[in-house]
Amino acid sequence: MKYLIFILLLISCQSKTTNDSIIEQESDYFEAIEANDIKLSEPQEGEWLFGRNEKGQTFEQYTKANPVRPIAGKSTIYLKPIGQFTNLQKEALKLLRDYVELYFQQKTVLLEPFSDKNIPKSARRKRSDGSEQLLAPYVLDSLLKGKNPKDAMALMAISEKDLYPKPEWNYVFGLASYTNRVGVSSMYRFQNKTLDSTNFTLCLRRLMNVSTHEIGHMLSFHHCINARCTMNGSNNLSETDLCPNRLCSECQKKQYWNFRYDNRKRLKELLAFLKENKIEGDFKRLNLDLETLK
Ligand SMILES: [Zn+2]
Ligand SMILES: [Zn+2]
Repeated sequence: MKYLIFILLLISCQSKTTNDSIIEQESDYFEAIEANDIKLSEPQEGEWLFGRNEKGQTFEQYTKANPVRPIAGKSTIYLKPIGQFTNLQKEALKLLRDYVELYFQQKTVLLEPFSDKNIPKSARRKRSDGSEQLLAPYVLDSLLKGKNPKDAMALMAISEKDLYPKPEWNYVFGLASYTNRVGVSSMYRFQNKTLDSTNFTLCLRRLMNVSTHEIGHMLSFHHCINARCTMNGSNNLSETDLCPNRLCSECQKKQYWNFRYDNRKRLKELLAFLKENKIEGDFKRLNLDLETLK
């Protein structure tokens, strides 16, 4: 028994040393960007953290939780549109693919749209304004679970119709399953019903935020209570709009530990994308990180 305990202690010490050295090598980067983390303010009524006991997740808790990681032959992120999309919506999805690939520094594939016609009546409902909603757990359990392509690390569906999680709920922006590595979000509310040139950038920004948040859950991230961060929980669209397209330094450590990419390359590529697509608030926020690193 003593022998077993000794081996376990050795494994645990080795794993801590390895984790520490991986982050240690990038300590200049993480220490610099930590200065740009913005503290969360006291939650107000109606906000996600108001009256909610979120525990958060430290770097150590994440690495010890055996998170989903890219492994040989299973490292691609798939995006699966569900419904009938206009050309402008398809354009937003293409840009979303580009962003997700840069954000995770991981090959990302946009699949052909999948019709929602075969979703049964029991998993859809009409609202008083005539718009239709799809039952998000049905999409996860019946359309996505077990349908991950062989090389998929995560499969994220994007519905063009609105979603609801349970009959008594009005709607939900997105839902993801940790264990099955599948998720779904809807672009319906991001575009104020119809996507056009006036709301395209806003819709794209929201899609980027919610999709990377949900894929983060699939990669074993919990909600973040460390600072303002893409992994903060959100109750409504105005809270989502305040949620940055930037992981806080603690969550960036987790993601870097998981993927081992070049942090500076990722930052520069994300900045180029944000500039090109005129997503100004997030560009300014990430540019501060670049300036701090100089
Ligand atoms: Zn969440
Ligand atoms: Zn965070």
